[in-house]
Amino acid sequence: MSDSFDFNIDGKIALVTGASSGLGWRFAQVLAQNGARVVACARRVDRLQDLMEEVAAEGGNLQAVAMDVTDRASVSLAFDQAESLVGTPEIIVNNAGIAVASRVLDMKDDDWLATLDTNLNGVFWCAREAGRRLLASGKGGSIINIASLLGKRVLPGVAAYATSKAAVIQLTKAMALELAKHNIRVNAICPGYILTEINGDYFDTDEGRAMIRTIPQRRLGDVSDLDGLLLLLASPASGFMTGSAINIDGGHGLVTG
Ligand code: NAD
Repeated sequence: MSDSFDFNIDGKIALVTGASSGLGWRFAQVLAQNGARVVACARRVDRLQDLMEEVAAEGGNLQAVAMDVTDRASVSLAFDQAESLVGTPEIIVNNAGIAVASRVLDMKDDDWLATLDTNLNGVFWCAREAGRRLLASGKGGSIINIASLLGKRVLPGVAAYATSKAAVIQLTKAMALELAKHNIRVNAICPGYILTEINGDYFDTDEGRAMIRTIPQRRLGDVSDLDGLLLLLASPASGFMTGSAINIDGGHGLVTG
């Protein structure tokens, strides 16, 4: 039986992709604040300097490693570096993602391909790499994929993004099923609208402000709203949870799609 009140991740090794901004930055910071040894990944390591300084000032442990999630060699190299710096990651947060707004008939080929390459293929390369290395090390682990409410619901203009996130939810379930016997849990977080660089410009428009009024709680999420769910999924408290795709959205999923 697992300890359902054990939120302790002290000393655990965590890896976060896309950690140079927004949710990824926050996830890396919160994991470090709770005692994890964090490997923060981004395409440009220099963008992680301020995060490293912030975490160090709080007495946390965070290392920066370069990773482009669309590049399999880069993913593998980043895991090699993580292993030599701190050991095999056992909490993996697949957070890197992009969003391109376009209606289907206007969609540029490159936008469609880039969205699937980053949001779906990137999650697959990292999750598979993480799973293989956990298996080889004999450790259990928790893989946390950042999907979206738009992986379950849909709106006009988000076809590529919504399709990629729906696939991430299905990949989460498929991996959870195959890895459960190895004590590797795979879950997805499905945020509604959280104010970050990915959407800040949109919520400054009249259309964006109208969107906020459709959220039952009448507000956007703050990055800190995800802290509790992140820690739940990262820690032994969720030891019997795998294959879940959890909304965290101010009730938005109740009224969209
Ligand atoms: P963001 O733009 O601040 O963060 C995305 C990060 O991914 C950036 O740091 C970016 O540099 C990185 N990235 C993009 N392509 C990459 C690549 N090829 N390799 C490595 N890193 C790459 O936006 P965010 O809101 O913090 O988004 C984080 C995740 O949360 C994304 O997967 C996004 O789809 C998801 N999400 C966000 C919201 C929201 O409302 N903010 C809602 C649902 C889901």
